[in-house]
Amino acid sequence: MTQLVKPHGANELKPLLLEGKEKEEELQKAQRLPRVAMTSRETSDLIMMGIGAFTPLEGFMGYDDWKGVCADFKRADGLFWPIPITLSTSEEVAASLRAGDEVALVDSETDEVMGTLRLSEKYQIDKAYECKEVFKTTDTEHPGVLKVMEQGAWNLAGPVKVLSESYYPREFASIYQRPAEARRIFEQRGWSTVAALQLRNPMHNSHAYLAWIAIEVCDGVYIHQLVGKLKPGDIPAEVRVRAIQALVDNYFRPDRVVQGGYPMEMRYAGPREALLHAVFRQNYGCSHLIVGRDHAGVGDYYGPFDAHRIFNEIPAGSLELQPLRMDWTFYCYECGSMASMKTCPHDSKATIDDEGNYVPGSGARLLLSGTLLRKLMSEGKNIPKEFSKPEVIAILKEYYDQLEEKVDIKLHQAATGEKK
Ligand SMILES: [Zn+2]
Repeated sequence: MTQLVKPHGANELKPLLLEGKEKEEELQKAQRLPRVAMTSRETSDLIMMGIGAFTPLEGFMGYDDWKGVCADFKRADGLFWPIPITLSTSEEVAASLRAGDEVALVDSETDEVMGTLRLSEKYQIDKAYECKEVFKTTDTEHPGVLKVMEQGAWNLAGPVKVLSESYYPREFASIYQRPAEARRIFEQRGWSTVAALQLRNPMHNSHAYLAWIAIEVCDGVYIHQLVGKLKPGDIPAEVRVRAIQALVDNYFRPDRVVQGGYPMEMRYAGPREALLHAVFRQNYGCSHLIVGRDHAGVGDYYGPFDAHRIFNEIPAGSLELQPLRMDWTFYCYECGSMASMKTCPHDSKATIDDEGNYVPGSGARLLLSGTLLRKLMSEGKNIPKEFSKPEVIAILKEYYDQLEEKVDIKLHQAATGEKK
């Protein structure tokens, strides 16, 4: 008997991925169907439905569900859902389709047939309204807003059958996980409470601190990494995976940690996205989600703790999963330990010299910006051990070094006209 939380709005997971003969037959049929191209966000949402991470959704949302989710965080039938899961297309494609038609859903980046949809409804939306509700802005500098604004003018709704998980199981073989697989591991370990730690950056000591706190209050921690699409300039998933593994191998008890990866593209919707993260973590079997500072945010669009507050604003009983609200964490030289804004009384900021060493007496809290971190690494300088473990730094440094070599080669070619 499982002790884990139930999936969202259902007693069992509802993966929509077909297998074996059923899948082969549907793939054959799909060859003859009209093709609808999906954006990378839509493809990632389809895979999330395929693996059961978006249980209990059965397809892309219709108008009433879209409206209810935008306005009141719920589908037309009352089910709590925080962000619309919709499929868009052009005016021409929409005009050629009628309710009841079947279409093949194609990943526009790989041209692979990812699934089929039986059309129940086509409709137009007020994109600015969706963005205002979901992202709190219509500024197209916001990457999530830009995606919505650039999508087709019509939405197609209907139940889907999913035929592929794309390259994720292959490229991220060591960590890619379906919810049923994660649940099985948690059950084998006898866990009933599991805290999910959302990660899309390398894991430094401040993240490790969150994970250690979670282990103190739950049976274990699920380090759950995004392997879907990120902003340009973010560290690629395979580098992150290695860096996190190095940290886990050396500084965690192996029986208290499980690592996994999920294929959803970031929307950077801040508080709303924190709620979506909660929904699918519950499907993965997690009873808690660590919600830190500016969870799933980008730029200055959200207050640092908006994502904490939104869990109080949704109706009671919307989710079984509970947030573990955590403040901004760092190392404090005065406290002599990891600490947070909630615990540490020392407001001053520690100074790091040009060699990457702490300047004694300069201040208390060690806060390294990504830019300074990268500068120190690229110059081969020291990274304070209080900020990140040496095993993690070594892997990141290797990544940045080969990046810079590539840039050098490119510059060299441009200067000399050489091809190779
Ligand atoms: Zn302190």
